[in-house]
Amino acid sequence: MRADLETRIRRDKLDTWFKHLTLASLNDKEVVFAVPSGFVRDFLTRNHLAELRRAVQNVGGHARAVRLIVNPMRPTDGDAARRASVEAVLDKITEEAPPLTSYEAEQRRTGEKRSEPSRAPENFIKPTSLNPAYTFESYVVGVCNRLSHAAALAIGENPGRAYNPFFIHGGVGLGKTHLLQAICHAVHRRHPGKQVAYLSCEEFTNQFINAVQGGKLDAFRERYRSVDVLVVDDVQFLANKDRTQDEFFHTFNALYNSHRQVVMSSDCAPFEIPTLEERLVSRFKWGLVTQLEAPCYETRYAIVQRKAKARNVEIPDEVARYIAETIDTNVRELEGAVVKLLGVATLTGRQISVPVAQEVLSSVPRPRPRRVTLDCVMNVIAREFSLSPRDITGKSRVSHISLTRQLGMYLSRHHTDHSLEEIGRFFGNRDHTTVIYGLTKIKKRMQEDRNFQAVVERLGQRMLAAQQQMS
Ligand code: ADP
Ligand code: MG
Repeated sequence: MRADLETRIRRDKLDTWFKHLTLASLNDKEVVFAVPSGFVRDFLTRNHLAELRRAVQNVGGHARAVRLIVNPMRPTDGDAARRASVEAVLDKITEEAPPLTSYEAEQRRTGEKRSEPSRAPENFIKPTSLNPAYTFESYVVGVCNRLSHAAALAIGENPGRAYNPFFIHGGVGLGKTHLLQAICHAVHRRHPGKQVAYLSCEEFTNQFINAVQGGKLDAFRERYRSVDVLVVDDVQFLANKDRTQDEFFHTFNALYNSHRQVVMSSDCAPFEIPTLEERLVSRFKWGLVTQLEAPCYETRYAIVQRKAKARNVEIPDEVARYIAETIDTNVRELEGAVVKLLGVATLTGRQISVPVAQEVLSSVPRPRPRRVTLDCVMNVIAREFSLSPRDITGKSRVSHISLTRQLGMYLSRHHTDHSLEEIGRFFGNRDHTTVIYGLTKIKKRMQEDRNFQAVVERLGQRMLAAQQQMS
C-alpha cells in the first residue's frame, strides 16, 4: 500500500504522517488503522482519507471504508508491531475465507433481494450484474482452458452461429463464471442491439417459482424466450427440480429453434447432473461441451502475475513462482493467496518476498485437498470389499466384482481430476464408454437406494482421510 500511496503523496509527508499507521482491524467492508494521537488522526482524516481509501481499494481489490482510531498503546518495537499486525491481518482475512470478491459480495447482497417476488421482473436482463473485470482481456489462457476460451470467443463474436448450445463444465474456481460473463461483455460490445440475459440457474429457478406463485408465468416465459443470448451459470442446480427442468427444457427449445444462443456452465458434465432428464442431457450435448481443467504451473504463474498487476502491484518473480508452486488447486485459491499476500505485505509495510509469502500461505489454513489419487481409490475399495486390485481390474463379470469396479470408476470421477479415458485405462484398460456406463449405473442405484448412497458417501470420506494421511 505504501507503493500505492507514494504515487499520490509526497515522500516527506508520507514519512511524517503515515509511518505511525498500523492496522487495527480489517474485514470485507472496513479497514481500521490505529494512529498514535488524536492530532495525527484528525490531520489524516482531514487531508488524506481519500488517498487512503484509494490505496486500500487498489490493494484489496475492492472499496472498503477506512477508519482511524487512536491507540497510543500500540507496540513500538518494530518487529513485534509488525508481527502483531501480520497476525491481526491473517486472523481477519482467514475469518473471511473463502475470500469473496467484491462482486460476489455484491451478488450475495442483491441475491437476497432477488428472491423477493416483487423484484424478479426488473432483474431479467442485468448487464449491471456482470462483473466488469470478467472479460476476455483479463482471462489467462493455458492448456487447461484453451478450447473453452476459443469457443467462448467465437460465441462472443457470433452468438447463435458458432456453437449452440455451449456447455462448459469444471470444478469450482476454475473460471466458468468468468468465461460466461466474458461472452456477455463481448456480445454487449460487438452487438449492442442484442439482448443478453445472464443469470445463475438458482435465479432462474427462483424467478420461475415466483412467477408461478404470482400468476405471472406468461410474462416470465415471454421474457426468457425472447432474448438473443441466454447465459445460465451453474446448471447443476437443476438437479432434483423437476418443474424447473421442464420449464428450462421449453425455454431451451424456444431459443434453440430460433437460432438464439444458449450458454451454460456446470460443475460436472451434463450426464453427471443427478436426476437431470435425459432429454435435457442430450440437448445440452447438441452443440459443444468443453471441460475446464485445473491450471498447470505455467498458467498459474501467469495468473499470479496478472492478478497482482490488476491491483497495480508487481510481484517479484521468485514470489510468483513460489505461489504458483504452492497453490495448485484452482484459480480462486490462487487469486485469494495473491490478495492475502498483498494485503499483509502492504498493510504492514513489509516488502513482498518469499519469506512473507511463506508466512502468509502457511498461516492461512489451506482447504483440505479434495483430490485423491487413483491408487488411493483402489486401496480403499479393495479393502472395503475384500478384493485384490487384480480382481478389480481383471476381466471378471461376476456381479459383485463389476459393481466394485464401477464404484471405483464413480469415486475416481468424483474425487480425482482424471479424465474418463484415464479412469478407464486404470480400471483394466477399458474405454471411456464403459466408464460412462459404470457411472450411470452407480448414479441410478444411488438414486434408488439410500443405503447404497450412504455407502458411496462413506467411501468417499474414507478416501479423503486416507489421502490426507498419506500426504
Ligand atoms: P467458477 O465459476 O468456475 O467457480 P470463477 O469464474 O468464479 O470460477 O473464477 C474464480 C476466480 O478466478 C475469478 O476471480 C476469476 O476471475 C479467476 N479466474 C479463473 N480462471 C481464470 C483465468 N484463466 N484467468 C484469469 N482469472 C481467472
Ligand atoms: Mg461460478
